[in-house]
Amino acid sequence: MAIPAFADNYLWLIHDGVQAAVVDPGDAAPVLAALDAHKLSLAAILLTHHHADHVGGVASLLRRYKVPVFGPAGEAIEGITIPLSEGDAATIPELELAMTVLDVPGHTRGHIAYVAPEQGWLFCGDTLFAGGCGRLFEGSPAQMADSLGKLAALPDATEVYCAHEYTLSNLRFAAEIEPENDALTARIQSEQAKRDQGRPTLPSTIGLEKSTNPFLRYREPAIAARLISAGRLSTREPIAAFAALREWKNSYR
Ligand code: ZN
Ligand code: FE
Repeated sequence: MAIPAFADNYLWLIHDGVQAAVVDPGDAAPVLAALDAHKLSLAAILLTHHHADHVGGVASLLRRYKVPVFGPAGEAIEGITIPLSEGDAATIPELELAMTVLDVPGHTRGHIAYVAPEQGWLFCGDTLFAGGCGRLFEGSPAQMADSLGKLAALPDATEVYCAHEYTLSNLRFAAEIEPENDALTARIQSEQAKRDQGRPTLPSTIGLEKSTNPFLRYREPAIAARLISAGRLSTREPIAAFAALREWKNSYR
């Protein structure tokens, strides 16, 4: 279940009708309201990285619920009781949920993602967005490209639960990069229809991202050609193409 927060964040609530786990509770109030409204009890908190819009609600939630807090071993975040890094398990027995952890540095240095292989879920914070990727606040283009590569290697049907509703603006940039991509054109129409009805565009899927997200497609010759013709790339080196895409997106309006 998606809980909207701030201007464009989603706080994901995983629940079985009785117990719940929340991913990246940047704000406690909407989480507490959702728990109350659905008569759920909180069993765990999962964090992907240290930014305030992802962890700001942890202290208040802990005042009401004494629950384990899973989070990145590589980041100093108040309240973490179970520090995790790649290959670790994040198990929530109350929800019969067994997830595994991937290190996905780039947006922040210690950013992690949670994969629930049985359910086909990915919680990836600000690493992979629908149609885009997070800004490189602490990592290099090579790190982010490598992290996105790990996510792209998950099964195509994997549902992508990212932390922001940036989809339409990401796809507008994607169309600037790949105007001839038919899958992208079709996606823009269907995501626009969801937003027109006030629905989230998320979750996305890994398969859809692989066919439409330029940050997973930077090795495509058509993308390199587009970047070169725009004067933003002078080599055919894939990581240079990735870096040029990220840089262009930073200033794209
Ligand atoms: Zn962030
Ligand atoms: Fe964020």
